[in-house]
This record gives sequence, C-alpha cells and structure tokens, in this order.
Amino acid sequence: MILLKLLWRIKLQIQAVRGFRDVLPGEVALWHKVEEIARSVLERYGFREIRIPILEKTELFSRSIGESTDIVEKEMYTFTDRSGISLTMRPEATAGILRAYIEHSLFQLEPVSKLYCIGPMFRHERPQKGRYRQFHQINAEVLGSSDPRTDAELLALLRTLFEELGLGELDFQLNSLGCPRCRPGFRSKVAEYLGSKKAHLCSDCQRRLMTNPLRVYDCKVATCKEALAGAPVILDELCQECGAHFLSVQKNLSLLGVPFSVNPFIVRGLDYYRRTTFEVVSSDLGAQNAVCGGGRYDGLIGELGGPDLPGIGFAIGEERLVSILQGRAGVPSFSLDLFLAALGEEATEKAFFYLDKARRLGLKAEMDLRGGSLKAQMRRANKLGSRRLLILGEDELSRGVATVKDMDGGTQVEIPLEELESAMAGWKEACSQRG
Ligand code: AMP
Repeated sequence: MILLKLLWRIKLQIQAVRGFRDVLPGEVALWHKVEEIARSVLERYGFREIRIPILEKTELFSRSIGESTDIVEKEMYTFTDRSGISLTMRPEATAGILRAYIEHSLFQLEPVSKLYCIGPMFRHERPQKGRYRQFHQINAEVLGSSDPRTDAELLALLRTLFEELGLGELDFQLNSLGCPRCRPGFRSKVAEYLGSKKAHLCSDCQRRLMTNPLRVYDCKVATCKEALAGAPVILDELCQECGAHFLSVQKNLSLLGVPFSVNPFIVRGLDYYRRTTFEVVSSDLGAQNAVCGGGRYDGLIGELGGPDLPGIGFAIGEERLVSILQGRAGVPSFSLDLFLAALGEEATEKAFFYLDKARRLGLKAEMDLRGGSLKAQMRRANKLGSRRLLILGEDELSRGVATVKDMDGGTQVEIPLEELESAMAGWKEACSQRG
C-alpha cells in the first residue's frame, strides 16, 4: 500500500525539463558573489550593462553563428510562434548584443562601446556534469576597436576577475584564426590534409570535412585527435597583418603581466571569429573544463547590417565558475542579524511587531511564526546563524524588557522595550560599519 502511494506521488510529481536545473537557495549566495565581483570588475574596466531579450528571430543566429556550426545545425531551441515567425531562445549573447547595438545606433554615441550582459542561454546539447541545456553566461563585448591592446585589455580584465574570485590557477590559451585573406588558404590545406585521413575521422567529422573542416580541430573523439597530429597549423599561415596583430597582443599581455600559452588548436565553435581567439581552462573541472571562451569578430557588425566596425568579446560559463568555487573556504552563507523568540500569545504579538520594525531599520531579522518551545526557537536561531537572539518570554513581558543574547560572545543584556527600537538602530549601524 505504502509503495503504491509512493508510486502514485512520483507519477503526480512534475520534474524540471532535462538539462534545465534549479539553483537552490544554498547555492545562490555564490552566484551573487560571482555576479557582484564580475559587475565590479567589468565596470572598473569601463563596461556598461545591456539587457537583451531571450527570444530573437532565428535568422539572427543562423547569419551570425553560421549555418554549418553545431549550435545552429542541432542545438537551438527554435519554434514558430503564433504569428508564424521563427524564433529562437538565445544560444549565446553576442548576436543579440550586436543586433541591439545596430538597432539603436549605439555606435553614434561613442567610438568604442564596451557592453556586458549576464543571463541564461539555451542549447539542446547532451546534458552532463558542467553541460546543461539552460546555462548562464557573463558576456562582455568591445565594439569599435581593432587595436591589439583591446584584446590584451579584455584578457587582463579576465585575469583580474578570476584573481578577485580567488581563481589564480587558470590556464589562458590563445590563438589567432587569421582573416578572410589568410584563412581560406589555411582552410583548403586543412581540407586536403584531413581528406587523406578521412577513414580515421568520426562520422561527424567526415561530414564536417565537406561543410566546415576547421571544426575537426574541436572534436574530442580520440581517433580524430590522433588524425590531427601533423595537421597544418594556422599560425604558420597568417598574413603579415594578422601575424603582427597576434604578436602585438602577446607583447601587451606580457606588459600587463597576464600569463598565457599559445594553443593553435583553438578554433572555437562559432563561425564569426577572426584573428584573436582564446579559452580559459581550469584543471579543477572534468571533461567540460573551459570556463570562458572568446575572440575577435571583425566584420560581423557589417554582416548584420551595421557599420563596418570591429569587435571582440568573451563569454564566461557561470555554472562552471560556481562549481570551482563550491567547497572552497570563504563561501558566503546566509546569516541573520537578529532572531526573535517569543513565548505566549501576548509576547508573540510584541515580537511580531518588533520583527517588522527591525526589518524596516535594515536588519536581517526572522522569527518562527509556528511558535514552539523556547528551546526549539533557539535551535532555529542557531541553524540560521543569527548574530543576536532576542527573547521575549512571559517574565520579560511582565517586566517590560527583552533579553538580548550575543550569539558570538555569549553575553546577555536586558533592554527595556521602549529602548528596543533605538538599540536595533544601533545594531544596524554596527552591521553597516562591519560591512
Ligand atoms: P561558448 O559560448 O560556446 O564559447 O561558451 C563559453 C563558455 O560558456 C564556455 O567556456 C563554458 O564555460 C560555458 N558553456 C558553454 N556551453 C555550456 C553548456 N551547455 N553548459 C554550461 N556551460 C556552458
């Protein structure tokens, strides 16, 4: 019978969509910390927030990310809405930010725009640890500058951000993908080389050979990796301008003390990249070890109908950052300034009144409205990590006082009820000074 009831309950329960996860309250403090530090660093480096819609016209992504990319070919959440328009839930943010930049002529406001955006992205990938179908990114874009110092500045920003998050040990991997002048030559050399290795490639890569041979460099299948040993390297094929640009990026990174390594196999999964591309990799993560990816996309603004201006940006995966930070010391936890415990109806009414007063004065205050014994309420105060415990029992009530216990030091004082409000204001003042 019990088993039957349990099965019935499970049947009634609706679960989250596969690959979509809940961020529960215990984890949210870390998300706040990551976003707070990210905003602070981004704004110090001159970035301003932009908020863009989750839904865009499908064409925006197919035109920018590229028809033959994995994202556009098989990962987008695309549907036709009630007016018959094909819409897609954004799989990344750059396309939407550029659309907004062009639509609102932001390029007329300043020669170089630095924009950032934080929010969810959607890709129908195979879910696994570190890979979800709804995930969150912190995106930053610099639009209007092709100067290699801009590339170095963006990577220096990432270095500062990761340092302030306490992640010093990340690996910054850098490459250049060349430009429309030098990449086609490289691409045909790759196609020719991989053509001779076709039998060793996975079925996806055999198809990529026809549509987008560079994508093979991204494949994780062992035989494809082996087939790439001895493959042409883009850095040998760069034109003079791209070569000089890449050297200058590296020189400026050294000037700013940003450690990096050159990895000629970083091709990135999106078609729009040109010249500098990079990934930031952590050894603390499993198979999905990239924390951040980005690069330059000169030409894309023009292709989307805007002026011919260069651009560069990055996207950090928030789930992966949070996952590295989890379990480390200094994880912020939810704590209270004040817990009010009361015994008896009259005392509970008074405590309820002071609970609201405390909150209006700016204190994080709580009480257990279910009542219960004083002992049970004190246990709750402890569990919530309250800094102070205010007790209003029948004895206190009859004498017109409240007992206030400092949970850190263990000291206890009695405060007359008519002085309670100003005492609470003083606690608030002390909290603000302590930060
Ligand atoms: P991309 O937009 O593919 O260049 O990815 C940028 C960053 O977003 C990656 O380095 C990951 O940290 C994160 N990311 C990308 N796809 C996913 C996913 N499906 N689930 C979780 N994080 C992701």
